[in-house]
Amino acid sequence: MFIFYFGCCFGSFFTVVASRLPLREDFIFSRSCCHHCQKKLAFYELVPLFSILSQKFRCRSCQKKIPTFYFIVELVYGGLFYLAIHQLTLADQLIFGLWVTMAYLLALTDYFYLIVEPRILYPFTFLLWLVAFYFQRPFYYSTFILLLIFALSVYFFFYNYFGFGDCLLLLAWGPWLSLRALAFLLASASISALLLIILKALLKKEVPKQLPFVPFLSFGLVLVLLFF
Ligand SMILES: [Zn+2]
Repeated sequence: MFIFYFGCCFGSFFTVVASRLPLREDFIFSRSCCHHCQKKLAFYELVPLFSILSQKFRCRSCQKKIPTFYFIVELVYGGLFYLAIHQLTLADQLIFGLWVTMAYLLALTDYFYLIVEPRILYPFTFLLWLVAFYFQRPFYYSTFILLLIFALSVYFFFYNYFGFGDCLLLLAWGPWLSLRALAFLLASASISALLLIILKALLKKEVPKQLPFVPFLSFGLVLVLLFF
């Protein structure tokens, strides 16, 4: 339980990082504020999960509703952190932790701003590759070459049709996944995205113009890491 809550605290911090880094705002020293009334939050309003529950999902000063989204993603990160700690070896813990954190941060920045933030993508790719090479994880050249060809063809021919950031992300993750795992990741990402579009169309009778794809890729990645 403690480990899970510890994970939720990290999730809370990474959510702040994801929301501020693309705007080049400081995320270590400046305290969070209500997005609606801009009032700085007191320390007792910053306790992950408990604050939001005790305030019944409302800002203490302006009573504006705080989206449940924040609550859910913190829980998700807490759960994944818990799973990471229960991996058998330190190598698995490190790789799983790094990979999931990278996915979490990029999924959120894509959700907030529709971008694959390079200042998260490149450092985390470097770290992930470093740790994976160090612990001698299998490097799948076939997946790597396939994704490289895909990324280059998107760059030269289909730049306006497929997000190049998504390609770079796949290029960062792909070499550490077998072709089967990659196919599974892409299939689960596309199917879940499609289901969400259909659901949105049915509920709101409108098709979203632009859909952040990284959250779905991250969802696929978590499935692959857990079940492959
Ligand atoms: Zn407020």
